[in-house]
Amino acid sequence: MQDNAIRTLIIGGGPAGYTAAIYASRANMNPILYEGIQPGGQLTTTTEVENFPGHPEGVTGPQLVEDMKKQAEKFGAEIRQGAVTKVDFSKRPLEVTVGKDVVKAHSVIIATGATARYLGLPDEQKYMGMGVSACATCDGFFYRKKIVAVVGGGDSACEEALYLSTLASKVFLIVRKPYLRASKVMQDRVLKRENITVLFSCETLSLFGEEVVEGAKIVQDRGTDREQIFDIAIDGFFLAIGHTPNTAVFKDYLTLDDQGYIVLSSNGSATNVPGVFAAGDVADPHYQQAITAAAMGCKAALDAEAYLLQNNL
Ligand code: NDP
Repeated sequence: MQDNAIRTLIIGGGPAGYTAAIYASRANMNPILYEGIQPGGQLTTTTEVENFPGHPEGVTGPQLVEDMKKQAEKFGAEIRQGAVTKVDFSKRPLEVTVGKDVVKAHSVIIATGATARYLGLPDEQKYMGMGVSACATCDGFFYRKKIVAVVGGGDSACEEALYLSTLASKVFLIVRKPYLRASKVMQDRVLKRENITVLFSCETLSLFGEEVVEGAKIVQDRGTDREQIFDIAIDGFFLAIGHTPNTAVFKDYLTLDDQGYIVLSSNGSATNVPGVFAAGDVADPHYQQAITAAAMGCKAALDAEAYLLQNNL
C-alpha cells in the first residue's frame, strides 16, 4: 500500500455518506468524508422527519443528519468540509481534488445526492420551509385537511399529487403544457381523483402570504389571446419538476444513465470503475428516501471493504 493513499474516501454528507462512514470506520477503513457544499444534504431542507425508523416522536432533518455525523465521528471517521472539483479515476490510487488538495484513495464512495429542481422564483427561497417544499413524502403530513399545489406534469408530480390528495382537502396540479407527461396509468388516477384539479397550460408567477404561503399567482395560456392571470388560495406549494443528480464531476469516468444518475452493478454498489462505489440519490432515480439512501451507504461501505480485502489494500 502506498503511504500517502487513504483506504476510503467518501464524497457527500447526507444519510448515504454518513452511513457509509459509520460502517467504514467500524471496519477500520479509516475513512475521510467530504461534506460538500450542502452539509447534511437534502434532509436539511426538510423540517420534521417522521418516517425514519427509530424516531417514534419524529426528528428534524438537520438533527437526524447531525446525529449520523456524530455517530460516524465516534468511530473515527474524519469529516472535512469541501466540494470535489475534479477526479481522476484512471489513476491508481484514485485521485480526488478538493480545493487545492489532491486526495489519493484506494476506494471511493460517491454519495453526492441529487438536487431537487425549483422554478427559480425568488418567492421559493422566501417561503422555503414555510409552505414551499420539494418533497411531498417528507412534508405532506403537515398539510392535512389543507389546500396544496403541486407543480409538474411527470410521474413524480402525479405521484405526489395523489399522495397529497389522501391528506389534503384539495390539490391543484399546475402543469405548464396542455397535457401530462406522466404514464397513462398515473394520468388516469390523477384525473379521476375528485379532490385533484389539474390546471393545464399554467405557470406560477409568484407566491404570496404574510409569513407562510397563502396563495399563488398563476398565468394560464401565457402569451396567447386567451391569457389570463388569477390567484389560487393554497397553504403548501410542492415542486415535482425533477431532480438533477450531482454527477457532473464524475461524468468522464462513470457510466451514467440518460438522466445522469450513476449506473450500479445489479444489487450492489459498484460502478464501472473498480474501487469506486456509489450510494444514495446520486445512484437512485426512483426511491430517493433518507432510509433507502442510508441502506445504500451501508452496502457501499461493505462492498468497498470487500474490494480492499480482495486487493490487499
Ligand atoms: P420528469 O422529467 O418525467 O417530469 C418533469 C415534469 O416537470 C414535466 O412535466 C415537466 O414539464 C415539468 N417541468 C420541468 N421544468 C419545469 C418548469 N420550469 N416549470 C414547470 N414545469 C416544469 O421528472 P419526474 O421527476 O416526474 O420523473 C423522473 C423519472 O422517474 C421519469 O422517468 C419517471 O417516469 C420516473 N418516475 C416513475 C414513477 C413511477 O413509475 N411510479 C414515479 C416517479 C418518477 P414538461 O412535460 O412540459 O417538460
